[in-house]
Amino acid sequence: MENLKELANLLFPNIDKTPDFYEELYPQRNLKEGARVTRLAPSPTGFLHFGNLFTGMVAYKTAKATDGIFYVRVEDTDQKRKIEGAVEVMLEGLSAYGVTPDEGVMVNGTQQGSYGPYVQSERKEIYQTYAKYLVEQGLAYPCFCSAEELEEIRNSQENEDIKGYYGKYAKCRDLTFEQIKKNIDAGKTWTLRLKSPGDITKKCYFDDMIRGKIEMPENVIDVVLLKTDGIPTYHFAHAIDDHLMRTTHVTRGDEWIASVPLHLQLFRCLGFKAVKYAHVAPIMKEDNGGKRKLSKRKDPEAAVTYYKQQGFPAESVNEYMMTIMNSNFEDWRRMNKDADINAFPFNLKKMSVSGALFDMVKLTDVSKNVISTMPAEKVFELSYEWAKEFDEKLAALYEQDKAYATAVLNIDRGGKKPRKDISKWSDIPEYLSYMYDETYTENYELTGNATPKLAIEVLELYKNVFDTEDDKDTWFGRIKDICEPVGCTPNVKEFKQNPDMFKGHVGDVSTIIRVALTGRTNTPDLYFITKLLGRERAYERMNKALAFYKEEK
Ligand code: GLU
Repeated sequence: MENLKELANLLFPNIDKTPDFYEELYPQRNLKEGARVTRLAPSPTGFLHFGNLFTGMVAYKTAKATDGIFYVRVEDTDQKRKIEGAVEVMLEGLSAYGVTPDEGVMVNGTQQGSYGPYVQSERKEIYQTYAKYLVEQGLAYPCFCSAEELEEIRNSQENEDIKGYYGKYAKCRDLTFEQIKKNIDAGKTWTLRLKSPGDITKKCYFDDMIRGKIEMPENVIDVVLLKTDGIPTYHFAHAIDDHLMRTTHVTRGDEWIASVPLHLQLFRCLGFKAVKYAHVAPIMKEDNGGKRKLSKRKDPEAAVTYYKQQGFPAESVNEYMMTIMNSNFEDWRRMNKDADINAFPFNLKKMSVSGALFDMVKLTDVSKNVISTMPAEKVFELSYEWAKEFDEKLAALYEQDKAYATAVLNIDRGGKKPRKDISKWSDIPEYLSYMYDETYTENYELTGNATPKLAIEVLELYKNVFDTEDDKDTWFGRIKDICEPVGCTPNVKEFKQNPDMFKGHVGDVSTIIRVALTGRTNTPDLYFITKLLGRERAYERMNKALAFYKEEK
């Protein structure tokens, strides 16, 4: 067609800018050599999938590892899916794990940076300027096909390897200017399609930062660039945005990998330097011996809100995420036990191609480790924050006496081998239930050589000699001292050598006291527990246990 300019003006009468205008408005970024510019481009559905957080973290780490820029762009061109307040919900979710943008749509919903607007629905004029340019270049054309006509085309393609609007099926590809004008004058709606310069016999090659070299057939489909309402499709919008926002690395879900030939073609048609792509495989989960994608529908842990509700600290989730994000992270962690997680040299090339496997047991283990190294004050603060939102009862217990709660949480903390009882804040009510009368439930079951009869003898003696003011050695000395009078030995070795000579050993005596005081056979340090329970409560609990065993006998 000779009159492309005329056609462009017919289609876009209100567009008076050219791509040069935007090229100048959004100049190359002035960053140091090698700095990467990445982005997260969520569609505001309001649901933050663990995979979104994971991909966001990949983009964030990629930028941070190179002193680059990480920005957030909101992709809201699909107005049907739009939900009020969704952006804020998603950004808050991300920022809780440290995925905070340097630029773009910020956590409070405002926009910051000189490459905006960062919300696609505010960029209509930009897209149309580039659309007009493509029409002028003979690389795009209006298509008037109705939904029924498109359906017909699809139905006629059963035997074709390639399906879609292309070649002989692209009915509007070669309309004359006059035909187009007639349609427009008649008020027919149109979409704008790419006039794909692709060659069906040729291949497109690219190097994915995660998956390596990839070869796919060139794109030949005349995809829709602008919908009938002038709003761009994802393909068109992302090419323009990633170019004008001077993105260097597009990290995104690998459901887009099949579109790369189209995307590279779009970059070329638009005269843009191609971005680098890194396609992140979906998070997988074991299911019935097989593997499947972590599913929003089936798996509660697919929602990022799940971790908050359960009370997994962000630090734990981040630590876990890194273990499945980069295969060498755990080795690095072993060598750098106390290092800040941000010091880890994140590398796209160390990511799984087949999809990281989500494993709740592993997350739980990682989290136990992370929490075990936190000081009691931090455990208290974080779990108190959590409790205020998710567990009023725990919050109320804490509020009775914060220092007491912190002291309870401090038992067996610090030191070389801290206990690892807590994997998430929702474990805490159970963990410290016996330290509060409101939540303590007696359970007088005994283990080992401890019998109700022996328990009676031990408790009768011990309740009258224990002293919460004792230092630890004295405290243990008293327990050892009552061994012999009740027919036990303070020496476990001795017991093992001559089991028939004793009713039990010091471990059994301790178990009896522990069970009487806490209702459990396994607890953190009994010395501190007794001290914190205080003389009166400890005495009372031992008396109750005594009554129970006496009745049982
Ligand atoms: N809005 C797209 C999505 O949510 C973003 C894809 C991309 O990162 O380019 O899937």
